[in-house]
Amino acid sequence: MAIDKTYPEIRDAVARLCARFPGEYWRKLDHDRSYPTEFVHALTEAGYLSVLIPEEYGGSGLPLSSACAVLEEIQHSGGNGGACHAQMYTMGTLLRHGSDEQKKHYLPQIASGALRLQAFGVTEPTSGTDTSRIRTTAVRDGDDYVVNGQKVWISRTEHSDLMILLVRTTPREESVKHTDGMSVLLVDMREALGNGLTIKPIDTLMNHATTELFFDDLRVPVKNLIGAEGAGFKCILDGMNAERILIAAECIGDARWFTEKSAQYACEREVFGRPIGQNQGIQFPIARAHIQTEAAALMVQQAADLYDAGKPAGAEANMAKLLASEASWAAADQCIQTHGGYGFAVEYDVERKFRETRLYQVAPVSTNLILSFIATRELGMPRSF
Ligand SMILES: Cc1cc2nc3c(=O)[nH]c(=O)nc-3n(C[C@H](O)[C@H](O)[C@H](O)COP(=O)(O)OP(=O)(O)OC[C@H]3O[C@@H](n4cnc5c(N)ncnc54)[C@H](O)[C@@H]3O)c2cc1C
Repeated sequence: MAIDKTYPEIRDAVARLCARFPGEYWRKLDHDRSYPTEFVHALTEAGYLSVLIPEEYGGSGLPLSSACAVLEEIQHSGGNGGACHAQMYTMGTLLRHGSDEQKKHYLPQIASGALRLQAFGVTEPTSGTDTSRIRTTAVRDGDDYVVNGQKVWISRTEHSDLMILLVRTTPREESVKHTDGMSVLLVDMREALGNGLTIKPIDTLMNHATTELFFDDLRVPVKNLIGAEGAGFKCILDGMNAERILIAAECIGDARWFTEKSAQYACEREVFGRPIGQNQGIQFPIARAHIQTEAAALMVQQAADLYDAGKPAGAEANMAKLLASEASWAAADQCIQTHGGYGFAVEYDVERKFRETRLYQVAPVSTNLILSFIATRELGMPRSF
């Protein structure tokens, strides 16, 4: 029995929508390394990608917990919300720090699906996890910023009209704190492509539409600055905490999919004249994965509740992401083991989901960095960097 689930009506409706996109659909996309355009279109049409956008701008005005319910159910159905989750987690930055003019201009178009905000550009090849060392710069020139630099692992850029981009407007050495001097720009990809922005796809373990970006004198209007110049790190933190909570919810959905799939197969598959699930060697690891998942789900809910109440949620968001990503990985590993050789057969979807869920121990923040955050910020131990 799983814990009481929030937003049961939304979950049921999302599950019904996802049933139109079964394993075959995701398998083919995975094989072709193509983007689930029809799925994202269906989710947009049904309003699920705009649950966080306030009603006055054409969305449903619901809290982050509702977005967690949507993404969790997508993963639970066997699909992959990674294709469109950025539209939800970038909202933290835009809603909390965007100007009224920016919100009036962009949000109704995002809510209707006319514009896609699916790209969040932070990571760079030389800075890695140390965001304060990003080298992409934006220099003011009249009414524009001129952007130069490079980003890596920026997902869905080829399927997005807008991108939230973190740049340096003051060099790190000249900033009081290392995290000062960064700024957030809203980049219109349609204008930028070929005019200073080049996109290069990266082949990856799973189908994730991730890319490298090269900026060569890209001009971005100053009116597209989100929040104050130099205060960009604080602006993206709101997006990052939301991202961690939403991705943790996706991991819970994955974990439940794996565990249910394992239990079902364990009941059906007969070896030595009885179902393999009758053996405790098979039962117990599946039960353990279930317990781990439900415990992690409580932390995800706690983090979402704090975020929705406008309270500090950094520690809980990080803990939820760590616990949920480890629960989904444990469930995935056990699912392969339960299926024996069939776990490796593409038609069972287990190997695809196994590859997909592995990402979340590395991105959007790796497990070591979460442990370091908790060790130093929550437990007061000395910083190692
Ligand atoms: C498929 C995919 C999609 C992505 N999408 C996006 C996106 O849309 N936008 C975006 O901005 N980024 C994106 N990322 C980037 C992702 O957030 C980073 O890969 C992640 O934050 C880790 O950074 P890195 O790869 O540079 O690893 P590094 O920083 O090089 O770290 C490598 C390893 O060393 C460990 N490590 C580093 N420093 C320490 C330390 N001091 N102590 C202990 N361990 C340490 C890390 O935990 C990690 O395990 C994506 C990545 C992938 C793979």
